[in-house]
Amino acid sequence: MKLLFLSTSVGPLGSGLGGGVELTLLNIAQALVTLGHQITVVAPQGSKLPLPVEMVEISGALQVPAQTQTRDQPIEMPPNPVLGRMWDYARQVQARYDILVNFAYDWLPFYLTPFLQTPMAHLVSMGSLNDVMDQIVGAVVDQFPGSIGVYTRTQAETFPFANQCVALGSGLDLSLYEFCPEPEASLCWLGRISPEKGLEDAVAAVNKTRTPLKIMGQLQDVTYWETIQASYPNAPIQYLGFKTTQEMQEILRKCRALLVTSRWVEAFGNVLIESLACGVPVIAYARGGPTEIIQDGQTGWLVRPDSVPGLIAGIQKLDQISRQACRDQVEQDYALPVYGARVEQWLKNLLL
Ligand code: UDP
Repeated sequence: MKLLFLSTSVGPLGSGLGGGVELTLLNIAQALVTLGHQITVVAPQGSKLPLPVEMVEISGALQVPAQTQTRDQPIEMPPNPVLGRMWDYARQVQARYDILVNFAYDWLPFYLTPFLQTPMAHLVSMGSLNDVMDQIVGAVVDQFPGSIGVYTRTQAETFPFANQCVALGSGLDLSLYEFCPEPEASLCWLGRISPEKGLEDAVAAVNKTRTPLKIMGQLQDVTYWETIQASYPNAPIQYLGFKTTQEMQEILRKCRALLVTSRWVEAFGNVLIESLACGVPVIAYARGGPTEIIQDGQTGWLVRPDSVPGLIAGIQKLDQISRQACRDQVEQDYALPVYGARVEQWLKNLLL
């Protein structure tokens, strides 16, 4: 197939502003190229993709991330929007491609679906956040059955059209993540520093247990981060900035566990499988994607959502988890070729 991938419009690829969908786009592209498909990626100016595929960079104002908006908020469009310009490009070149694959959680690409001649597939990377989005995605899936892909069933169930979504899971190039059998003392927290990620609970837990915590990720909400620091001035935490996958896994793999403290229904949580791939167990709130990933008591602990004592209990029981079991689970469930085959099938079905 000849595929045109349209990236998220909230940030350039490689910036971390797009969150897990940046890694997902890269992994899908890599898997499908391996299967012999041709891919061109359209993405905001400044994007970097460590893959030899054609990339078209488009300038313009970035879109506001959907998770910062309220449920009843109307759709916003900045002047000179990169999103509009990316889809104008897609309109012009669409005849060269079999499918246009949308990775943006934005209203416009869904709205445009019936107006374009080339079939479209949409990878919806978050749960339900906004009424206008729910309406437009629902309208698309009614008119184009099979065109909406999601990560997990739990994510799909946040939408009124749950049963019409195709759950694709996720996958990783496991060769990029090195297994570490013997950890150091630190715990790890990974992700965009933004209220829906609940970093303050991880900090509260390590403040109590006095376990060092290494934090890596895009600093998306500075005020939120400053409030956490002010609330726990003596917490044993270290913020290391946003790292590349290579740098991140070098630090992550030496940690005793990853803490995942999401307040929202996490659509998947790519950081969980990256952690397991290094042999690092995960202590996660039992909410959203993590409940479909973690095998409680085998590859980590699922704890009552929003319970700091639950996190602390998980930290105290870490010795019961085998790091080899973590790596084994990822090899079994999240290897890139298996994921690639599922995504390929989803796309092929749209051409029937
Ligand atoms: N990440 C990274 N460098 C960092 C911290 C995180 O590249 O220093 C990436 C990580 O690999 C993952 C993404 O950020 O792909 C976070 O995605 P996740 O699915 O966990 O959450 P989202 O941001 O999509 O809500």
